[in-house]
Amino acid sequence: MEERLQKVLAAAGVASRREAEEYITAGRVKVNGKVVKELGTKVGPNAFITVDGHPVHRERKTYLLFYKPRGVVTTMKDPEGRKSIADFVKDIPQRVYPVGRLDYNTEGLLLLTNDGELAQAMTHPSHEVNKTYEVTVPGIVPQDKLDLLRIGVKLEDGMTAPALVNLMGYDYDKNLTRFTVTIHEGRNRQVRRMCDYIGFPVRYLRRVMMGPLTLTGLRRGDCRELFNEEIEELR
Ligand code: URA
Repeated sequence: MEERLQKVLAAAGVASRREAEEYITAGRVKVNGKVVKELGTKVGPNAFITVDGHPVHRERKTYLLFYKPRGVVTTMKDPEGRKSIADFVKDIPQRVYPVGRLDYNTEGLLLLTNDGELAQAMTHPSHEVNKTYEVTVPGIVPQDKLDLLRIGVKLEDGMTAPALVNLMGYDYDKNLTRFTVTIHEGRNRQVRRMCDYIGFPVRYLRRVMMGPLTLTGLRRGDCRELFNEEIEELR
């Protein structure tokens, strides 16, 4: 896909879009060896761009921690016109994509990146990133049912691996049980299906932790860049 030169320069972290325009009009930018001064110029993904003779490395690698609210689809665009992640990352020049997904009605931590290698590694079953979910279900869940989740339950796509389950508490007034589940698998709607299996369908689900990442300091809809140490820990 072709994009405007100033947008590509900004996305690569060379300068702001405005400064990039100044670089272009000043004749400091070359595309495939030729000076380009036209601001509307579009370039393809393989164009070789230099600024003052220095090659531009396209698309700075970007890692964002996003607190997905409920009622948002985990895609960059929704054909049905529902709110999507793109609505929250409009100001970010890089094209980032979600690593894994959360259901429309699940909220919580989602990693967005343009680092395809890391995304692929993290979603591979052998990578085993722990993911912790806060779960609320109607009713009072007996310990033996929680034990079933711990041991593993038989879903249509096979047994689940052992999970860590911590009872947070019973709310007898509201007739609810709250607990956390930590799993490393990433099957579709896994926590919901596990809870269906024990006869306590999920009312509320939030991912609060993924490997070293937590939601601390973020509000729903917020996004922040990862720290270098966090990126290293994910690798
Ligand atoms: N498990 C689910 O059931 N839903 C999610 O969104 C994530 C994990």
